[in-house]
Amino acid sequence: MIFSKQSTMDILGRVLIPKELREPAGFRAKDKVGAMINITDQTVTFYKSPDGEYDLDSLHRVVVPKAAWEAWRWSHRDKFNVTLQPGKTIQLSMAETYEPKCVFCSKQEETLTYRDQGICNDCLSVISPGHREG
Ligand SMILES: [Zn+2]
Repeated sequence: MIFSKQSTMDILGRVLIPKELREPAGFRAKDKVGAMINITDQTVTFYKSPDGEYDLDSLHRVVVPKAAWEAWRWSHRDKFNVTLQPGKTIQLSMAETYEPKCVFCSKQEETLTYRDQGICNDCLSVISPGHREG
């Protein structure tokens, strides 16, 4: 039995709840779910509730509360651990922060993002105006 899987958040702040976790938790498409935000652990726990604020869409995605990802700077490119918890709840926590990679040399250090693409300082200095090939 699988208790934890990785998932990503899409650009609209939705996370897919993998089948292996939602089945034992009894989460189904169109179910209402509530969300508990744990500030110290930086986790969000979803639980089935008829008066929950959120719902699972037809593709089993749930919107991550905006307050959570704003507070912790979660972004749609981060990877999340989705974990089945006792009491049939599903917990979301960050697995990996997205690190921009240089589009030219794949370096991750000293890389900044411009128009959704990473570029490192070395490559940037080469293509910058004023650079002369030596
Ligand atoms: Zn580079």
